[in-house]
Amino acid sequence: MKVLVTGGAGFLGSHLCERLVADGCEVVAFDNFYTGRAENVAHLEGKIDVVKGDVAEGLPEGKFDEIYSLACPASPVHYGARPIETMKTSVLGMLNILEKARRDGSRVLHASTSEVYGDPLVHPQVESDWGHVNPIGVRACYDEGKRAAETLAADFRRLYGVDVRMVRIFNTYGPRMQPDDGRVISNFIMQALQNKDITIYGDGSQTRSFQYAGDLIEAMRRYMALPKKRIDEFFAAKGLDAPVLNTGNPGEFTISELARETLRQIPTSRSRIVQKPLPKDDPKRRKPDISLAQELLAWQPRVPLAEGLAKTIAYFTLLASGKEI
Ligand code: NAD
Ligand code: UDP
Repeated sequence: MKVLVTGGAGFLGSHLCERLVADGCEVVAFDNFYTGRAENVAHLEGKIDVVKGDVAEGLPEGKFDEIYSLACPASPVHYGARPIETMKTSVLGMLNILEKARRDGSRVLHASTSEVYGDPLVHPQVESDWGHVNPIGVRACYDEGKRAAETLAADFRRLYGVDVRMVRIFNTYGPRMQPDDGRVISNFIMQALQNKDITIYGDGSQTRSFQYAGDLIEAMRRYMALPKKRIDEFFAAKGLDAPVLNTGNPGEFTISELARETLRQIPTSRSRIVQKPLPKDDPKRRKPDISLAQELLAWQPRVPLAEGLAKTIAYFTLLASGKEI
């Protein structure tokens, strides 16, 4: 099986490539290295092809049985720094993938996001919710880009029968996140390890639900493996216009709780918890309803936050010590 992973040198892309190799696939990781790193896939050298390029400009030659669409900066810091490129990545990148999939008959799994729900009015978030997004705000390049990508996927599926399915990923973390990625888990761990202030944005009462990377990869593989007919029937029966599936861990924590748990797990840290201004349009609550994924994939997240955090802390501890990982 030939598989293309866009964003393959990123945090999640690298875990997916590793899993695909273990499953016996022939893998091409395609990445422009904006937030990805060659080191993320260095351990797969000789087992996968790594190709440098931008999904908004074109895709590698050749036919692929499956395409996983993961290219896109995911941290608000990084997409906020390059908003126009981020929109192009999501929209033109998706268009390129769908046109290629249409020509070649490839199956596509697109990494969408809980951000399509924006600052949600429905809690926990269900796939039928249309979301609550500021279209002109600082997060819009990402949120609206991902929403437009979903629209393209839904239309290519309706018009041309392209076999595309989408996961709406809720905050996912684990080893190989970049230490300077800017997302909350990597920030808190690095701050605690370096005895720097732990920066809570706002009063820390906002919530997130954190999924361990391995749980997401398992869901993605199960979803990709299902025949199109099963997907069509399942989502039609649920009254959804396209196959969008929440994947996340429903355990919901305030950001203050996360800060305290991080410090509890790094008892040698001399860090203090401080408050910084809340970024604009920061969603107040987030928690996935995963009933559809549980039913369709016979899947559920296995790794609770305390356990996943410990594994991630172990990774960042090694990274900070400069030892080879
Ligand atoms: P990441 O930033 O580590 O990975 C993104 C990868 O895409 C990087 O390797 C980056 O260099 C590459 N990339 C960016 N723009 C590109 C372009 N134009 N062409 C080619 N490559 C490009 O982030 P991640 O957490 O691994 O996220 C992977 C995917 O999952 C993203 O699409 C993201 O939106 C989605 N997602 C992630 C989360 C999460 O919590 N980790 C949540 C929701 C959605
Ligand atoms: N956050 C924080 N301190 C940090 C980084 C993030 O308090 O150093 C907060 C952020 O404001 C948000 C939550 O943690 O409420 C999750 O942020 P992240 O950037 O990880 O992902 P988001 O869910 O916002 O895309």
